[in-house]
Amino acid sequence: MDIQKNIQDLREELNLHNHNYYVLDNPTISDFEFDQKLKQLQELENQYPEFFDENSPTQRVGGTITKNFQTVVHDYRMYSLDNSYSADDLKDWETRIQKVLGNVPLQYTCELKYDGASISITYENGKLKRAVTRGDGFQGDDVTNNIKTIKSVPLKLKGNYPDRFDIRGEIILPLEGFEKMNQELIEIGETPYSNPRNTASGSLKLQDSTEVAKRPLECLLYFIVGNNLGISSQYESLEAARNWGFKVPKESKLANNLEEVFEYINYWDKHRHDLPYETDGVVIKVNSFQHQDELGYTAKSPRWAMAYKFKAEQVSTKLNSISYQVGRTGSITPVANLEPVQLAGTIVKRASLHNADQIEKLDIRIGDEVFVEKGGEIIPKIIAVDFSKRNPNAEVTKYITHCPECNSELERKEGEANHYCPNFYGCPPQIIGRIQHYITRKAMDIDGLGGETVALLFNNNLVKDYSDLYELKVDDVIPLERMAQKSAENLVNGIEKSKEIPFERVLYALGIRYVGETVAKKLAKHYKNIDAIRNASLMDLILVDEIGEKIAQSVIEFFENPENIRIIERLKQFGVQFEIIEKHNPNATDKLAGKTFVVSGVFEKFSRDDLKKAIEDNGGKVGSSISAKTDFVIAGENMGPAKLEKASQLKISIISEDDFIEMLK
Ligand code: AMP
Ligand code: ZN
Repeated sequence: MDIQKNIQDLREELNLHNHNYYVLDNPTISDFEFDQKLKQLQELENQYPEFFDENSPTQRVGGTITKNFQTVVHDYRMYSLDNSYSADDLKDWETRIQKVLGNVPLQYTCELKYDGASISITYENGKLKRAVTRGDGFQGDDVTNNIKTIKSVPLKLKGNYPDRFDIRGEIILPLEGFEKMNQELIEIGETPYSNPRNTASGSLKLQDSTEVAKRPLECLLYFIVGNNLGISSQYESLEAARNWGFKVPKESKLANNLEEVFEYINYWDKHRHDLPYETDGVVIKVNSFQHQDELGYTAKSPRWAMAYKFKAEQVSTKLNSISYQVGRTGSITPVANLEPVQLAGTIVKRASLHNADQIEKLDIRIGDEVFVEKGGEIIPKIIAVDFSKRNPNAEVTKYITHCPECNSELERKEGEANHYCPNFYGCPPQIIGRIQHYITRKAMDIDGLGGETVALLFNNNLVKDYSDLYELKVDDVIPLERMAQKSAENLVNGIEKSKEIPFERVLYALGIRYVGETVAKKLAKHYKNIDAIRNASLMDLILVDEIGEKIAQSVIEFFENPENIRIIERLKQFGVQFEIIEKHNPNATDKLAGKTFVVSGVFEKFSRDDLKKAIEDNGGKVGSSISAKTDFVIAGENMGPAKLEKASQLKISIISEDDFIEMLK
């Protein structure tokens, strides 16, 4: 079998599946199959580093850290667009164009104006070479490593592409992915992101590309620049880009005159909220490249293109009152209760006011007429107060000083936007919120118990913290509203079953601020049990991969609280998992103690993972590459020639799998 060909075939196959899934939205294999193939490729690449390719689909997961992004001068300047706001503006524009070109008939390409961060990507010989942010238009930052993690960006092109060109597009965060990211932040008590555009543009400059890879970003393309492209119009260039493998939204359209441009604008002004991502207008481009050349550029923007900005949908309505919500972590959110009003197809009654600063900035007062706007976020926002309609007697809004639920005095930590209720153990929404978090699917996944029942249990004095759940009897819960014998039994059984949930999820379920699913996994894996985490110092914690100071501090605070310790001790007694259970291997020995092995090639009697496990079970160490520290190389079929040479240079014993089995006897 030819390894190199095998690797190349897998890469091509995976590229094709990525394209089907992320560009065409039409996957042809299951996620599971995809992951299997990716894993297979990953293993082969680890084993045969000589076939490394920076554009392999395995490189999509990120893994690079960029401390300082290099400044790069754009080969072709990135211009802005002129804006228009009405049909008249566009007619004036056409008149100006016709003056330059003489009254020739004009076609226009109409595209949506995607609301994200612009990017310029250079391809050479069909391979992604570099990706640069817009910057000031003349020069931007090299963010190649981050862009490569975005699955809809092709690393290798298909078909008949020019040798070298730049392609421009917008990095966007589709609404669904954005909501999901925010949901996860809210779950761990973090502040959600304010809008998809800023989040997308912030993502480009993250130092750790693994983080970028986790975000559901997309890249929508709209412009190609270069020499000898063999393309003669904008519309043609969009089709070409699509054929080379880029994601070019199908909504773009060729218009034969301004009338058709207006139709396009009117249609999308109404329907843009049905799109999976945010748009803030339409971009109209003179279609013919020859015409574009004749028109040229002003100091700032092309004369052949024009943005038409949608009017943000806005209404005015009255602010009836402000209420204050208390979250699971004690964080206070002010909410505006509005006179119900129709906006972008829904009736709006409430809007978030975010925090005290926002209220002060808007100078919003009860009884004010306010302007409400709907962006991509589900909750609409208040843009401004209509001061012309203010009642002169309206009182300045005073932010609450005490918790509306438990009356404790609120705190606001240095540098934080939100006020907090510090009454962690006595404030009902915090207690209920924590228990509700404890039972969620990603945490203890307690069947038969829902959020509303938790509130009922608390209000009926049946539970005061999540450890009380384990003392509930069927007879305790039957008297609750809408609770029958069967559902009461399910509830108690569900709680009992949660004792099998593994430690990492228990740790997440505890609801330690900033400890989300991923962090909980990291901590569980590193420390193995709750007492080790409890005894770790701030410095110890920070040294764990991916744990920053903010998280570490929060963990320390959690365990400093005697009430938390009491609850954990109780949970332990009930049999909840507080350590990782490592399957103990009865065949374990220390026969290989002090020896380091490197495994290379394919084996008959072991899978590579089993082989590594056998080494570790018997006290040996597994090294990832051959070095002076290696004692043995276990060589299988197809061991790479480079490795073989290195091993013999360093005079390291090369043994077969049978030799290895002998060593264990
Ligand atoms: P502005 O930032 O308002 O000057 O608008 C110009 C920006 O719109 C460009 O830099 C692009 O990032 C962005 N844009 C979004 N969609 C398109 C599109 N279809 N064609 C051209 N530019 C677009
Ligand atoms: Zn409170």
